[in-house]
Amino acid sequence: MNRITLGNPSGTIEVLKKYNFVFQKKYGQNFLIDGHVLDKIMKAADINKEDFVIEIGPGIGTMTQYLATYARKVVAVEIDKTLIPILEDTLQEFDNVEVINEDVLKLDLKELVEKENAGKPVKIVANLPYYITTPIIMSLFEQKVPVESITVMVQKEVAERMQSQAGSKDYGALSLAVAYYASPYIVANVPPNCFMPRPKVGSAVIRLTRHKEPPVLVKSEKLLFDVIRSSFNQRRKTLLNGLNNSELIDVSKEDLLEAIKALNKGESIRGEALTLAEFADLSNSIYDKSDK
Ligand code: SAM
Repeated sequence: MNRITLGNPSGTIEVLKKYNFVFQKKYGQNFLIDGHVLDKIMKAADINKEDFVIEIGPGIGTMTQYLATYARKVVAVEIDKTLIPILEDTLQEFDNVEVINEDVLKLDLKELVEKENAGKPVKIVANLPYYITTPIIMSLFEQKVPVESITVMVQKEVAERMQSQAGSKDYGALSLAVAYYASPYIVANVPPNCFMPRPKVGSAVIRLTRHKEPPVLVKSEKLLFDVIRSSFNQRRKTLLNGLNNSELIDVSKEDLLEAIKALNKGESIRGEALTLAEFADLSNSIYDKSDK
């Protein structure tokens, strides 16, 4: 069998020409053409022969070939049906890969992990379509998919947002969600020339290692995230006004003020100055004042 070696410009062009593939901008298709970057992703993802891996958006199967070599089983979820015959070709020598032609946001990943890995945590690895990075990461966390780690290529500024701390300019709801669920670590910055076609933005590989237990205790996770979302929805407003104007928070302004005062940070504090632990304290006092 003569497999075309992907992860380089010539092999990628050969496959694209063979199938007259037309890039779909709406699906965020930027295929990796750099073997060094793929090696770095594999090293950071730390895959071994016991692992079940889900790849989101395999494209023409470049990273899938690497994953199939290291893992026990890989399920790759690809939305673009024109890529399916290409994947059948580029992955033909691997009997441990299954391709699912579906929108990953519509797939029940929890059920998939239950079926393929008896509910044991899965490793997620992907060069993500940038237009839906945040919804994908949030749904992996919020749907309680059993995940051990998520090693993904994302837009550089999104990677920075994921690991930024209270007080910095790119700190926000995504940073807090990541901090609640995982420890983030930026593995590498990746320039546009490592992709075909080249994206307009810089990229970075980030590994999120899922916490065994959340770092803060809250009475209601839903309320914690409602408070966080409301605080950052209106960035220029004070925390008090942001929460008071939010439809998600059903507590009087007086009670909100009391909960904010208990943080000892002043009444005109803004959401971006609060750490995860302070958001947890705030949401617990709001919980006590609410009708539940
Ligand atoms: N993994 C390949 C690589 O590194 O060369 C391709 C990465 S490309 C940035 C993103 C891939 O995700 C594309 O193949 C695209 O068609 C696919 N994709 C986009 N939206 C998707 C969705 N909602 N569900 C599943 N796959 C999606």
